[in-house]
Amino acid sequence: GIPPASNFIRNIIEEDNRSGKWNGRVETRFPPEPNGYLHIGHAKSICLNFGLARDYNGICHLRFDDTNPEKEEQEYVDSILDAVRWLGFDWGKHLHYASDYFDKLYEFAEYLIGQGKAYVDSLTAEEIRALRGTLTEAGENSPYRERAVAENLDLFRRMKSGEFADGTHVLRAKIDMTSPNINLRDPVIYRIRHAHHHRTGDKWCIYPMYDYTHCISDALEKITHSLCTLEFEDHRPLYDWTLNQLAEIVPCHPQQIEFARLNLTYTVMSKRKLNELVESGLVDGWDDPRMNTLAGVRRRGYTAESIRLFAERIGISKADSWIDMSVLEDCLREDLNERAHRRVVVLEPLKVIIDNYPEDREEDCLAPNHPQKPEWGSRAVPLSKTIYIERSDFMEIPSKGYFRLSPGAEVRLRYAYIVRCVDVVKDASGEVVEIHCTYDPESKSGTAGADKRKIKGNIHWLSASHAQKAEVRLYDRLFAHAHPDAGGQDYKTFLNPHSKKFISAYVESALNQAQPEDRFQFERHGYFIADRHDTKTGKPVFNRAVTLRDSWGK
Ligand code: ATP
Ligand code: MG
Ligand code: MG
Repeated sequence: GIPPASNFIRNIIEEDNRSGKWNGRVETRFPPEPNGYLHIGHAKSICLNFGLARDYNGICHLRFDDTNPEKEEQEYVDSILDAVRWLGFDWGKHLHYASDYFDKLYEFAEYLIGQGKAYVDSLTAEEIRALRGTLTEAGENSPYRERAVAENLDLFRRMKSGEFADGTHVLRAKIDMTSPNINLRDPVIYRIRHAHHHRTGDKWCIYPMYDYTHCISDALEKITHSLCTLEFEDHRPLYDWTLNQLAEIVPCHPQQIEFARLNLTYTVMSKRKLNELVESGLVDGWDDPRMNTLAGVRRRGYTAESIRLFAERIGISKADSWIDMSVLEDCLREDLNERAHRRVVVLEPLKVIIDNYPEDREEDCLAPNHPQKPEWGSRAVPLSKTIYIERSDFMEIPSKGYFRLSPGAEVRLRYAYIVRCVDVVKDASGEVVEIHCTYDPESKSGTAGADKRKIKGNIHWLSASHAQKAEVRLYDRLFAHAHPDAGGQDYKTFLNPHSKKFISAYVESALNQAQPEDRFQFERHGYFIADRHDTKTGKPVFNRAVTLRDSWGK
């Protein structure tokens, strides 16, 4: 592929390599919390972290940030491992869980207490909040702030041993209640939670907070560059404060670097909201093909390559911005245009009888598997007297500029003959049920006579007696609004009512052999994938991943 574009993070790494800051070491990490499935925003971070490790002969660790026992589950751990692997990345032996560090984190907390840098506070959560102050108002010290080291140690050990109820005590870092940065106003670093943890079971009833856990986990893994999104910029002083206090007992002090998160239009990008869509039944699970989870886009038909191309194309910067959904869709079109075999399907059939075509005749028409790749060969698509065309390829009263079939008009049946519409049959309600054509036997594609007459319209078709039925699922964007969670109105009110339509369509008989996750371009309709779960031998189900052209505008 194309070499990765430079960005400010690569510049930092290259400078560090020049100065010898890390002795040439580059270690990054991707640290998801297993409280939901990964989404396309996480893909940006995965591609960034694993991509840097790949390009600088480094290591990227995969670490589960599992310090919230109530919200985390093994199902999410499994789905995350699956998604990272699917994207094409390998953590090797560098798989970690923050919960593996619970003993160390506890030991370090006792060390901080011993240094006079942490204390047990016995205020309620509300009281702590009230004393924290605001952006414009300094906070105030807790009455428990000056507890003696021995008392703090005793209380903290009793917190650990389960003596106290949830919420009765917390451990706080002793920093500065007047700091302009609220994160430094004696943040809570441990809380009591009598909760079962998906890995450590009931061993612990105190759990460390994110900010405290994260920097120490980074240090224990000897991460060099700890990359996170911009919201964490004003947590960096706490990251550095914590590691500075522990300088004598942790192996290194990684550099936290912030970059802009991915914001994508026509979607919501938070596990909490995605979870809500699943729980409320507004979508068919975490891997509903309309979901922007990696499990969802995979099922929809996205390739890992197209997601990596997208991550490369949007780049890395320090300024927040919005990316239009069409950028993602174009990456898939670009990738599949190169890779997908072409096939013919008729989604909304209209019967056509070719009056002058012999009753019992059937002939092969050669359809290339890829118009620009003759080396991929072609396949025989049988033609017979009765065919199906797309209902939208016929108009009884053609509008201006309509070059497909209408009474008296001519059109080319792709890979076959030119036909002229000679009659229209309607049912009692006036709906067109069948049309009659005649064909020009001299006009077959690929023969000398084919180019004699220039015909503007060129439509696809299938022989009625050869075509097979298959379920086709027409998906579109989940939201009809570019910024569903901009606020003002509940994002769920912006769901696109036309985002999912299941139909029974006619497909080339060869498509019956499609295997789960086979991808095709269905001519004139878009890119489709055989559903990885519902496709059974001889009974494919196709999902539309993306149409051939953007119909949403910008
Ligand atoms: P969410 O609110 O969706 O749950 P999160 O940041 O809480 O997101 P984590 O599991 O903590 O989810 O995220 C793991 C990593 O993925 C973090 O380093 C985070 O910065 C990164 N990440 C999450 N969302 C995005 C995004 N939209 N763009 C880029 N990186 C992201
Ligand atoms: Mg998080
Ligand atoms: Mg979150």
